Amino acid sequence: MFEKSNAIYRRLTAEESETKLKHNIQLYRINGLDIPFSPTWKRIGINLSGGADSACLAYLLCKIIKENNIDCKIDVITHVRCWTTRPWQQPISIDVFVELKNMFPNIISNRHENFITPELEHGVSGLIFRDLVYKDMMRSGDQVSVAGYNQYCVYRYKLNAIFNATTQNPPNTDFPKKMNDREKLVDDGILRDLIIENAGVFLCHPFRFVDKSWVIAQYHLFKITDLLNTTRSCEGDVSHKRIKPTIPDHTNYTPKMSVPECGDCFWCLEKDWAKSKLEETLDKLKNV
Ligand SMILES: [Zn+2]
Repeated sequence: MFEKSNAIYRRLTAEESETKLKHNIQLYRINGLDIPFSPTWKRIGINLSGGADSACLAYLLCKIIKENNIDCKIDVITHVRCWTTRPWQQPISIDVFVELKNMFPNIISNRHENFITPELEHGVSGLIFRDLVYKDMMRSGDQVSVAGYNQYCVYRYKLNAIFNATTQNPPNTDFPKKMNDREKLVDDGILRDLIIENAGVFLCHPFRFVDKSWVIAQYHLFKITDLLNTTRSCEGDVSHKRIKPTIPDHTNYTPKMSVPECGDCFWCLEKDWAKSKLEETLDKLKNV
């Protein structure tokens, strides 16, 4: 499992090898997957949405820090989106943060909140900003805001790295609204897909070639299904027929309220797919 993606970390140019050595980047293997980390890092950030992928990665990073006695804190960065259509997203991200902090009080440190006004979302205003580096590419307002706030946090809180838990689309499925940036196959993978260094700060995407079945299996292997149950991945909104009867609009929602899952968005289908693969995945993981 993950032989191909783990190998990407080991195919380095002379310059990349020098960077690895200079920053003492190590690989920590968890259930087959290599996760890069440096024992010299003092404070890192993780993008925590309130969904299952980012909560899982936050847990695994805490585990690496704790088990290797690394003196490093984790700041949680949440980009609050769609406050009028999915008003539960921000309170759920706080619940996940609190649960992680209870599990790892000496590691999980501060929570930083970015606010993205709905008008900037790709679905509302499209690709309206030219990329500052890749001049032939356009970006949506939400993408620019996420990248900009991450950069600001690096500067403001002196972060050594930021982790993002974007996973790969499930193989051999054709769920509606699959995102293209999650389609890349490991055979086409390069180091930049997994880890990028810029001025001594690292951006890490260790789940780039990991699908949801592995993520859901971690919750079972580490007996943290309570954390899984706190997360919410569904992107159904207040207009959905299964949600509207309970919460017709954002003014009807109060934190801790139970919100039905829509059952037909990409994230619901992906989660059901991962759950259906659970036994098979746990079996595969016995041999890694
Ligand atoms: Zn859904």
